[in-house]
Amino acid sequence: MNHSSYEEWLLSGEELDQEQSQALQNHLQSCPDCTNLQKSWSQLEPILSASTQVDPAPGFTQRWKDNLALRRAQQQRKITWRFLGFLLAGALIFFLALVIPQLGSLPTPIGSLDWIVFSFISILAGIGELQEYGWIFLSSVPLIVPISIWIILAYSLFSWSCIWFFSIWKLPALIRSKNEAHP
Ligand SMILES: [Zn+2]
Repeated sequence: MNHSSYEEWLLSGEELDQEQSQALQNHLQSCPDCTNLQKSWSQLEPILSASTQVDPAPGFTQRWKDNLALRRAQQQRKITWRFLGFLLAGALIFFLALVIPQLGSLPTPIGSLDWIVFSFISILAGIGELQEYGWIFLSSVPLIVPISIWIILAYSLFSWSCIWFFSIWKLPALIRSKNEAHP
């Protein structure tokens, strides 16, 4: 048996039979290198095996799952609020589309100011109502609804708002300017 074979025995941790362990003991008495190796290894080995078998803290998995659910719920709430934001933006666009064309046709500046204030107050009341409906909606609709559906809803609402805005606000002006250009 040579020196490196004893080193291998020391480091592999495999079970030695009686004859082998006797041979190792004999070698250790005559070889300071292997004695040092055995000492170092006997100190290091428990640390290594302990660090590879560390169990997670109790309840770790459950906490992780809870956190995940919480994060998902927060994300979904954020998206729902964004969706409501689109609704409000749509309402605002509708308001502007209604109010601005009226400004020219109203008789006096005072009258138009009154009308704007009145319209603004009624729109604010509408928004308050919308918020209330939003809360009912939020508390009744389960958060199970996938995020993708919210995104699709919000996106299509936004697109429709754009089309709506364009048709109410821009299209008549375009037609008018065309008619004026070709009487
Ligand atoms: Zn040796």
